[in-house]
Amino acid sequence: MKIVVLGGTHGNEFTGVEVINNLKSNPVNDAVHDYELIFSSPKSYENKSRYIDYDLNRSFGTDGKAFGYEKTRAEEIRNQVSGKFDFLIDLHTTTSNMGLTVILNYKNDLTLNAACFLKSKFPDLKIIMGSEDGSRSPFVGSLCSAGLTIEVGPIANNLVKADLVFTCQQMVEELLRWDFEEDFMESEIEVFQTTESYYYPEGNWYLHPNFDGKDFEELSPGTPIFINTDKEEKSFESEKSTYPFFINEAAYFDAKIAFSTSTKTTIGELKSTR
Ligand SMILES: [Zn+2]
Repeated sequence: MKIVVLGGTHGNEFTGVEVINNLKSNPVNDAVHDYELIFSSPKSYENKSRYIDYDLNRSFGTDGKAFGYEKTRAEEIRNQVSGKFDFLIDLHTTTSNMGLTVILNYKNDLTLNAACFLKSKFPDLKIIMGSEDGSRSPFVGSLCSAGLTIEVGPIANNLVKADLVFTCQQMVEELLRWDFEEDFMESEIEVFQTTESYYYPEGNWYLHPNFDGKDFEELSPGTPIFINTDKEEKSFESEKSTYPFFINEAAYFDAKIAFSTSTKTTIGELKSTR
């Protein structure tokens, strides 16, 4: 297969840039696939910002709103990637306490099997099924019919931590060395199926300290999740429990998104419902 690995799609997420640079200096000699490495957004990395003009990872698919530097980079990356690879890996970090995660934008075998494989190698890995139909999503992953986003955290933007760089690189290398031929206990492999974004209430509210950092832990209706300076609390309003993630992700703060919600399912279930 031909695999493309992108890092630095968001310029303030340094881990992916380190991994791309490390792999350029030390190629994976025992890789069983041809692979290429792309440093997605050098200018935003130099600028230590998520993007220059428009979020590069919202500049693909049917989203036509990109402009300036990211519009140019999106076109260049599209020319470099589209129709030329079988599998795409995009490297990101999060300020949320999510640990090691992969986010899937497709339910096809290649994508789901890769997630199972990584879970077998990294038992703490969380698998998230995205809410978008991959090919129509605005993400860079839409350029390839299979693939995943590796999202590691918690880490502040514009920072590197050795353990996250090493683990992220190890995940990429494991995939490059794997022949994609293996059977897994799919009915036992947990997946968090994204449902929606949950927003801050009107006014000046903080995430409740008892809730912040509790990514992937079951959240029941009525649990206090926001607090203000008068120590008033607001609770999670919902008819049923959820499994939150991206709690307090810095990039979503301006959009007033407090966290994403999900339901639990399995790889087997995803395969049977597609
Ligand atoms: Zn990112």
